Amino acid sequence: MDTADIVIVGGGIVGTSTAFFLAASGVRNVLLLERDVVGAGATGRATGVMLLQGEAEEGLRLQLEAIRIHRQYQPEWGTDLAAHGSLLLWCSPEEAARARQLEPLHARLGISLELLSPAEIGARFPYLATDDVALGTFSAADVWATPGLTVQKIAEAARARGVVIREHAEVTGIDLDAGRVQRVRTRGAAVATAVVVNAAGAWARAVGAMAGARIPVSPRKRQVFVLDRPESVPSVSPFIMEPGKDFYCKSRPEGLIIVQGQTRGETLDATVEWGYLDEALGCAERRLPALRAAPITGAWAGIRPMPPDGRPLLGPVPGIEGYFVAAGFGGQGFTRGPLAGRVLAELITTGRSSLDVSPYRVDRLAHAGRGR
Ligand SMILES: Cc1cc2nc3c(=O)[nH]c(=O)nc-3n(C[C@H](O)[C@H](O)[C@H](O)COP(=O)(O)OP(=O)(O)OC[C@H]3O[C@@H](n4cnc5c(N)ncnc54)[C@H](O)[C@@H]3O)c2cc1C
Repeated sequence: MDTADIVIVGGGIVGTSTAFFLAASGVRNVLLLERDVVGAGATGRATGVMLLQGEAEEGLRLQLEAIRIHRQYQPEWGTDLAAHGSLLLWCSPEEAARARQLEPLHARLGISLELLSPAEIGARFPYLATDDVALGTFSAADVWATPGLTVQKIAEAARARGVVIREHAEVTGIDLDAGRVQRVRTRGAAVATAVVVNAAGAWARAVGAMAGARIPVSPRKRQVFVLDRPESVPSVSPFIMEPGKDFYCKSRPEGLIIVQGQTRGETLDATVEWGYLDEALGCAERRLPALRAAPITGAWAGIRPMPPDGRPLLGPVPGIEGYFVAAGFGGQGFTRGPLAGRVLAELITTGRSSLDVSPYRVDRLAHAGRGR
């Protein structure tokens, strides 16, 4: 039987980042097990936006710290991180009034938010229809990176620091003895370890159940449709979002991507459901009239790991010695994965962390943690 000091389950941005930061803090024998290939889960299917506009101070502070880490490690990881900005469009007087009130909060956190009238939006982004827009808020500091490339680069950096990453290695069981982690089983092999990290994203609930832990992460599908980018839309566009319609679009290397709404219910099936295209296209053509003639060139879907109360689950699972979780990062996990990895590495190696993790404790939820 193999042995490892720490076994990480899941090769998304959370698992690879945790592996990287553990190795960077001097842990020698770190093994990451990925059922498929690195980035095959939500991470490789993300849009890649790290948004700096929001309504809650806690969320904005997390985003700022998360982006700081992406920037700090960009030279070592070699990611294509770049500032593309974000433009949020508020379409009713009530939405606009609420958005105006957000400016002082952003200013206090050092995020410069420009308030733009429809005429100003039209002058700066002439490809957008603004007849129904009451106000735009633009932040230039929001960054973007290619998710698939980013997670590969973090995995490479982790390997360079000694982490072993095994792909096509599905974890099928986690054995405990007297409430302590003893070993992790894959098909045909077992690894003796005293510490396991559940970084299985939308599959975290199943990996929790292997050790009798309740990890209430809900798998929800999000779909992306790709259109040929009209010439009038620049190849580097900001992230353009209509919060009122849960719609966004952005230029990416493969074309102009559009995202609108959610499929209903829980699922782990990432097959594209084309029935949702019409609604997304309706929003997109309304906002970018040049899209009316644009061919649809592709689509993909991914499963986002949604937590029950909007906050991720990060830290030890009470009652199971050696079992840690970092999951439930919802629609912002690509941004926050490296921050989660750093925090978890600190918690595992020192028992403390540079971020106050009390809001993210697993046992904040009465029904979470060790099953009885
Ligand atoms: C369409 C879409 C757009 C998004 N856009 C953004 C965005 O713009 N910005 C942003 O910040 N976030 C975005 N997100 C959210 C983000 O992608 C996720 O929150 C984040 O990638 C979650 O990372 P993770 O490492 O927790 O999970 P994942 O990337 O899903 O990784 C979990 C891994 O665990 C593996 N696994 C599962 N079970 C086992 C097992 N038993 N044994 C071994 N391995 C196992 C899976 O194969 C998977 O690779 C988007 C998500 C989607 C779907």
